[in-house]
Amino acid sequence: MRYIKYNDTTIRNIEIISESLHNLIFVSARYPVRLTGYYAGLIRQPDDAIWKQCMPDARELEDQTQCPDPLDELILSPVPGLIHRYPDRVVLLVSNRCPVYCRFCMRKRLVGSGDAPMGEDGLHNALSYIAAHPEIHDVILSGGDPLMLNDASLSKILTGLRAIPHVVIIRIGTRIPVTFPERITPDLCKLLSTFHPLYINTHFNHPDEITGDSATACTLLADAGIPLGNQTVLLKGVNDSVDTMRDLMTGLLAIRVKPYYLHQMDLVQGTAHFRTSVRSGLEIMRGLRGHISGMAVPHYVIDLPGGKGKVAIFPDDVEINGTTLLLRTYTGEQVTYHDLDA
Ligand SMILES: *Cc1c(COP(=O)(O)O)cnc(C)c1O
Ligand code: SF4
Repeated sequence: MRYIKYNDTTIRNIEIISESLHNLIFVSARYPVRLTGYYAGLIRQPDDAIWKQCMPDARELEDQTQCPDPLDELILSPVPGLIHRYPDRVVLLVSNRCPVYCRFCMRKRLVGSGDAPMGEDGLHNALSYIAAHPEIHDVILSGGDPLMLNDASLSKILTGLRAIPHVVIIRIGTRIPVTFPERITPDLCKLLSTFHPLYINTHFNHPDEITGDSATACTLLADAGIPLGNQTVLLKGVNDSVDTMRDLMTGLLAIRVKPYYLHQMDLVQGTAHFRTSVRSGLEIMRGLRGHISGMAVPHYVIDLPGGKGKVAIFPDDVEINGTTLLLRTYTGEQVTYHDLDA
């Protein structure tokens, strides 16, 4: 006769499963839940770094203090779906869908919501705005995930942008190499390579996300001549340790992805349980600089509430006394450096 042995592990697993089902039902009513089989397959055990990023958590509903749009992206949108915060560059929200809804998402207010992604009219209005503003040189496709669009829709948007002579740089922000790498097909890469200079910033947060499949996706993109950067979000309990961050950043360089930004968590409602202190972030930065390849060290940035923009912050390693600088090296040694008079 077969029977289930109720040892401590089975009981704990049953508790985890019922808690997860409870969270799934209650949290998903407010914030959508979606997973790919591939990304779920990276989970090794309940509550590990992958689990925390994608499985709904009851604390999402408890966060009542932070606001849905702390960066004032809506106020900074002259036309729907286009954010114009800096003089020479804009963000175009071309999709509100992603293969996996990250629980810490900065656009939790809109990803996976019922509204259709930017339609024909929306795209036309956004392109007209860009065409009418010759100071815009850099357009960032974001969302949601732009690569959720099919190749034909992407091609239409990119062709529209390339028809505007003052648009020099096109960037795509996408987490698809991490969450749904099979979307990066040779056909897609071929298509993207016809719109150079085109850059992709992807979004790896943990070394467990660097797999054979995600590496292959990045190789295909890099071989299409697309420079790859990475934006990591500093997440409590996921990647807020020096060892994890060193493995992540050096691992990314090894798959031809250049770490670009390390983001301090935005103060977005529903994500407060991921927040770390800036002091601990600076401590991590101190553990990177000098200890690993400089190529692997990202800029640590805070995107200021109220749409004031990103500010890069650095460990406090310089003391300035007139023309005498006291500098602290990565090993902690204090070295004096003499500056020019003027
Ligand atoms: C981050 C961001 C950009 C791009 O900033 P870079 O520092 O050039 O990467 C542009 N517009 C908005 C609204 C942003 O949030
Ligand atoms: S992939 Fe990006 S936009 Fe989509 S849910 Fe994750 S963080 Fe948000």
